[in-house]
Parts: sequence; structure tokens; C-alpha cells
Amino acid sequence: MRILIVGNGGREHALAWKLRQSPKVKDIFIAPGNGGTALEGTNVPIAVDDLPALVAFAKEQGIDLVVPGPELPLVLGIKDALDLAGIPCFGPNAFAAQLEGSKAFAKYIMEEAGVPTAAFGVFNEFEDAREYVLNVGAPIVVKADGLAAGKGVVVAQTTDEAITALEEIMLKQAFGSSGAHVVIEECLVGEEVSFIAFCDGKTVKPLPSSQDHKAAGEGDTGPNTGGMGAYSPAPALPADRYDEIIDLVMKPVCETLGRKDKPFIGILYAGLMMTAKGPYVLEFNVRFGDPECQPLLMRLHSDLAEVMMACVQGRLAETPLEAKPETTLGVVVAAEGYPGSYPRGMEISGFEEAETVPGVKVFQAGTVLDNGVTRANGGRVLCVTALGATLAEAQKRAYEGVAKIRMDKAYYRRDIGFKGLR
Ligand code: ATP
Repeated sequence: MRILIVGNGGREHALAWKLRQSPKVKDIFIAPGNGGTALEGTNVPIAVDDLPALVAFAKEQGIDLVVPGPELPLVLGIKDALDLAGIPCFGPNAFAAQLEGSKAFAKYIMEEAGVPTAAFGVFNEFEDAREYVLNVGAPIVVKADGLAAGKGVVVAQTTDEAITALEEIMLKQAFGSSGAHVVIEECLVGEEVSFIAFCDGKTVKPLPSSQDHKAAGEGDTGPNTGGMGAYSPAPALPADRYDEIIDLVMKPVCETLGRKDKPFIGILYAGLMMTAKGPYVLEFNVRFGDPECQPLLMRLHSDLAEVMMACVQGRLAETPLEAKPETTLGVVVAAEGYPGSYPRGMEISGFEEAETVPGVKVFQAGTVLDNGVTRANGGRVLCVTALGATLAEAQKRAYEGVAKIRMDKAYYRRDIGFKGLR
């Protein structure tokens, strides 16, 4: 098989690393890729949102499967464009990708499917939204409808804070057309976990649970980031509850989309809040989380290329999906200042030393290979991921790996996994 992965993060390095282990895979291309994916396959300088160029490349190269990593190409309709060219794509069509691309769409689908989610209202007029906030009271959550790179959500502790958020999103248009509508919802309390499953339009098979660390600072303080680390499984969602989430959340959503003749194929990611009243869905993503992907693929025992092809061909029910029983944990090393402004160009070394620690693999994210030297080229630079018999062992190994990485102006959280160890 010849595979084209779209993206340039740590997730895409992990996808390339895992797909390369399949005896079925002959060639891997990554568009645009990073310093790490260059070690697993061939980087191709095409941007993730340049659909015509991606489709043309896939045609020219006789690609057997396209694997979009991030949400943007899916929301823009890469699956639909590849369908027209007769090239298989592991991901949902543009309609189903609205589960992530529009928070209002996700809410309406959940309502139709009877999936537990926070009570909500959708507004396109500022005055109506303001009135709703004043009627419901705080705490309350304000969300720009469209993609906003994790910055379009405000968990407001007062009605003033919520109204300020509405002004930013609706009147000052801080997120452009992503804020043309807002979703305002009830504030839920509980522990957040990620539940990520493969779907072929009919069958849903989950990976083990995982937990991200969105905040920049230790103890979940400071601004939100793309994710500073993750581990799997998350004790807040133990394996004996996976079937409950599949029946309560994943299957009803897939069935609802199937009834609209828009089957969901690819990765369905439910961001769940484990509340005292049971699990509630906070958000859907239509692709692997980054950094959850790194520890999850390290746990995947099955052949990823085979599972992805089974999803595309509607054969997931007959295809095994097995995870290793161990725990995995990944620590993101970022450039100082992230998620604000940060420096680039720092030389990075110590990859091989880090990987001498048993069970450790370094997945690169914001890096470039510059004449044989790996340099920092993004906010989240890499993710040191480790497998261990227990969460404590995986954490110890991951931090031993981090200590062997040499990079000026590096920042990382020292408490990844703390909720699981508590
Ligand atoms: P973006 O679209 O900007 O990328 P996102 O998809 O990350 O944002 P959500 O996952 O919906 O947005 O929300 C971000 C975070 O806000 C959640 O991880 C959670 O911590 C918090 N949050 C969202 N909804 C609620 C809610 N109803 N109650 C409490 N906290 C919430």
C-alpha cells in the first residue's frame, strides 16, 4: 500500500510510525510533515488545506489510502474530493465532519440521537444571546460555533464574563465567521476524559480511554493549549464502562448520521465529562486528538493500516482491534512562551539517548530537519511517550526520556498523569 498522511504534528508522526510497522504498507508520504515524519517516510510540501494539490498528488502517486490527521481538511471536504477521484480516504465526509466543524450542528445531532449533553441554546443575534445568559445565570459556557483552534470557548463564572465573551465573539468578531453563531450551554462539573473509536459507518470499535492536559501550567492552571500531555487508560473511564459509552453516545450518533445517508467513517472522538449524573458529551472531534494519539497508537497492538482499510471498506465488524494491556503516557515539550509567542530555530538533540530508556519513543511535532540538524519550528515541539506496566512506571520513563532531550528554551509540565495517579 501507498499511504498519504495529511498534517504536520506529533499525531502525524505517530500515525506514520505506526503505519510503517504494517507489512502491508510500502510507501508513506506526509504532507507537509515535520522533522520526525521525514524519518518515517517522504515529506511533501503541500499545505493541509490545499485540497486540489493533495488530490492531484494522490492521483499522480497512485495512493491507496489518504489519512487526514487534523480536522481542517476534513471540514473542508477532502473525503468528498477524494471520492470523486476514486481514492479511499480514512475520514468522514464534510457533512459528518460538521460534528467538529460546527458546535451547533453537533448539539442538534446529539439532541436528535438522544445523547446526554449540556442544556443549550444557539444564537445569531447578540441581544438574544445576552438575554439567555441573564435568564440562565452563571456559571455558564459560551462557545463560538465554528473552528477556533481551542480558543473559542469561555467557561464564564459570572454573567458579566459571559457577556464580554459574547461581545468578543459576536460583535468584535474575534473568530471571524466561526462566531457568526454561538452555542451557550450549562456548565458541567466532573472529570474530563477522551473516548476515541474507529467507525466504518455501521460498526464502532473503541480504543482504550485517555486523558489530555489542556492547560499550560501544572495542576491545570494557566491558559489552554493544544494539549501538554496525555495518557491511556484514564481511570475515570475504566474498560468495563466502554460498552456503556458506545451504546449511549457513539452508536446513536453514527446511526443518526447513517439515517441521513451520511455514514460516519474514520475516527469519532467524544470529549466526555464524567459528572455525578453520568457521562455527558462536551464535544466531538472527527480525528485523533493530539497528543492522545501518541500514547494510544503506542498501545495499539493491531495493524493500523488493516484497521483503517477495514473502516473504509465497511469490514470493521470482522477486523480485530486489540490494545496492549500496558499504560502509556506522553509529555509534550514546548517552546517557552507557548501558547503565546515563542522562539523558533533552537537546535534539538538527545533523541537517541531518550529512546534508550525502555519503552520510550519521541514523537516530533514542531520540528524541521535543517541540513541534518533538527530545529524547533512550532509551539509544541515534541512528545516523549512511554509504555509502562503501570501509570507510575510510564510516567517515570517518559520523564527520564524528557531529561535526555537537549533544547534551549524548552518548557514542559512536570505533572502529566497526576489525576490518574491521585
Ligand atoms: P475550539 O472549537 O475552539 O477548538 P474545543 O473544541 O476545544 O474548542 P470544547 O472542547 O467544546 O472546545 O471546550 C473546551 C473546554 O472547555 C473543554 O475541554 C472543557 O474543559 C470546557 N468546557 C466545554 N464545555 C463545557 C461545559 N458545558 N461545562 C464545563 N466545561 C466545559
